[in-house]
Amino acid sequence: MSVAKVALDIPLDRCFDYQVSDATQQDIGRRVLVPFSNRKLVGVILDVRETSDLPLNKLKPAIKIYRDALPLDKGLLAVFEFCRNYYHHPIGEVIMNALPPGLRRTKPVFGKTAASKFVEIFSLTAAGKIFDITTLPGRAIVKKKLITVLQTNGQLRRDEVAAISSRALRLLSELAAEGLILAEKVPADILSTTPSAEPVLSNDQNAAVTSIAAGIDSFNVTLLHGITGSGKTEVYLRLVATALARGKQTLVLVPEINLTPQLEAVFRARFPGVPQVSLHSHLAEGERVNHYLAAQSGEARIVLGTRLSVFTPLPQLGLIVVDEEHDGSFKQQDGLRYSARDVAIYRAQQNAIPIVLGSATPSLESYHNAKIGRFRLQRLDTRAVASASLPTVRLIPVNKKTDEGVSEPVLTALRQRLEQNQQSLVFINRRGYAPALLCPQCGWICGCSRCSAKLTLHARKNRLRCHYCGLEMAAPAHCPHCGNADLRGVGQGTQRIETWLTNQLPTARILRVDRDTVASKAQLTSFIERVHAADVDILVGTQMLAKGHDFPNITLVAVLNADSSLYSSDFRAEEKLFAQLMQVAGRAGRADLPGEVLVQTAFPDHPLFEALKRHNFAEFAHAQLQMRQEAQFPPYTFQALLRVESVHDEAAREFTRRSADIAKPLAKNVRVFDAVPAPIARIAGRSRWQLLAQAVSRNHLQPFLHAWREQLEALSAREVRWAIDVDPIEL
Ligand code: ADP
Ligand code: ZN
Ligand code: ZN
Repeated sequence: MSVAKVALDIPLDRCFDYQVSDATQQDIGRRVLVPFSNRKLVGVILDVRETSDLPLNKLKPAIKIYRDALPLDKGLLAVFEFCRNYYHHPIGEVIMNALPPGLRRTKPVFGKTAASKFVEIFSLTAAGKIFDITTLPGRAIVKKKLITVLQTNGQLRRDEVAAISSRALRLLSELAAEGLILAEKVPADILSTTPSAEPVLSNDQNAAVTSIAAGIDSFNVTLLHGITGSGKTEVYLRLVATALARGKQTLVLVPEINLTPQLEAVFRARFPGVPQVSLHSHLAEGERVNHYLAAQSGEARIVLGTRLSVFTPLPQLGLIVVDEEHDGSFKQQDGLRYSARDVAIYRAQQNAIPIVLGSATPSLESYHNAKIGRFRLQRLDTRAVASASLPTVRLIPVNKKTDEGVSEPVLTALRQRLEQNQQSLVFINRRGYAPALLCPQCGWICGCSRCSAKLTLHARKNRLRCHYCGLEMAAPAHCPHCGNADLRGVGQGTQRIETWLTNQLPTARILRVDRDTVASKAQLTSFIERVHAADVDILVGTQMLAKGHDFPNITLVAVLNADSSLYSSDFRAEEKLFAQLMQVAGRAGRADLPGEVLVQTAFPDHPLFEALKRHNFAEFAHAQLQMRQEAQFPPYTFQALLRVESVHDEAAREFTRRSADIAKPLAKNVRVFDAVPAPIARIAGRSRWQLLAQAVSRNHLQPFLHAWREQLEALSAREVRWAIDVDPIEL
């Protein structure tokens, strides 16, 4: 009889002891089913010992140990331990959050060995190779096509056959029966399809690849700062090739919205025989487990994934790439509030391997680290395709009350593009704005009854919706204050802009792309296809459009409401705006058509726009960093935010205040600010308060957080939920 220390998905930072009769050290890292109060829970075994602090006969026996998958390795368990300590989060929640949902179930995973080791390959027999397709009847179109393709290509995979026609697989068996075709199963890794051609690297690309590849055997962080279209992906591909050649696995992290089938295809095409899996939340549960297990067994050599895949077990990890490293989606905003980029850096260090952070607009944290030499810096300053020049940026001064939000010069430019059969993108910065319902008589604005947010007007359905808590209701007919029946929609919504443009440019085919029109990833893909098929003249949309997509025919980008970010209370708002504008600007003029970006603003002389005009990230970053240094903001300081919420405002406020009182005597070299309501003080009927702690070094902040957290745990916190957000990206 021995004792298993089990991590469970319970908000207490400790393990639970269970009796196990058949466990050995080999079971550390395995899933286990245990009784917990009157439930059965799946947990992970973190240790197997002979003794417990409790009398052995007081321990409940574990129900079963799952030996259906490999145990989580020691390295990964150390990553969890790091997250527990650094983010001050209960160990069981850290671990269970990192497992794909399919492995958190009480059912074992049966025979799911992932990305099949063997691939079915079809080729021609000797008779097939010399078969004359003109001897087939004229209507045998698919058969003819199959044989012709095979005669040129040599071989086809099952999925390639299926892509030819829905009947192709059935016809293939007929041809096999006729002795023309050979079906065989071959190991995936000897599959020889021709890899996509490697372009000749630009000097910058070459320098980056050479330098990073030279450090392939040691831990180092490289910031790959390359303008949009400079060919960062090609740099990643060459480095992946280096890692593969050394028998190593590569983890590529990308923001959710960038993990498109196109990107997966780019990697597959370059390494056709190499098993590759993707990991993201849109996969079916079983598929996600399969991909995870393929990574864990070492079978998958390339893993392409979103934030959560940073916790994938990778026994031969040799390289990590984080694309668009500045992207906010790498930071989880609830539960374990981790930064996948930072955890990735930890893993690289742990494995003594290189990590590459790529971006056209690096986070100021990473940029600063590169400036002070903590990260290496590699720059790609020119576009990879020589003919593609950077778009010109023109500022359109507007006063704050431009009628429907589209100025005359922008409308004229849209008209021009329409006449020339070129596409335009009308971009709306969603930050800090939303169309609202207003009473022009008394100034009343319709707010959410559960939040401190204003309700967003959806004019077409005449409904109001809260984007924070989801509340939805019909727009009221009268002002509840003064009874006025003439309520107006104000503010620029994508929908209002779309309607207005449809009236102004009746011949234009307008497509609106935002959270309301795009319900799924598949829908976004189909929208993008319509743009590529020149089915659309004007795209109207939010940041969804800004990322990762190439629209070679777009020659005009109009940005309508950049200004709201300039007076935001969030000190990162300008950084985010600049990144977004650089990115949308990058959508224009990629091919041989020169692009133009028009930005409507009431502050045309603002330094942010000056830097944008020159496509000069360094200039912008320099100014921002100087401001941050003067104000003692990150990256010059490190922050942690206590977030408190409760249905009772008083309870949340009181808890936050007492937290501040507790914090102050503990704070050595740590500045503790005052308890304040969160910028959005109420969401879904819950009041939110917060408290900021800040230090010039993590070495000061971390011990403080440990001590503070311990005391917070002891604070009676009925009706209150709280969490510590380390390195918060939204204050
Ligand atoms: P980024 O990710 O830096 O925005 P991409 O990787 O999308 O840029 O590259 C932009 C385009 O340039 C792609 O179509 C890519 O195939 C092409 N490209 C990249 N490197 C080269 C090269 N060395 N020679 C020619 N074309 C290249
Ligand atoms: Zn009114
Ligand atoms: Zn609400």
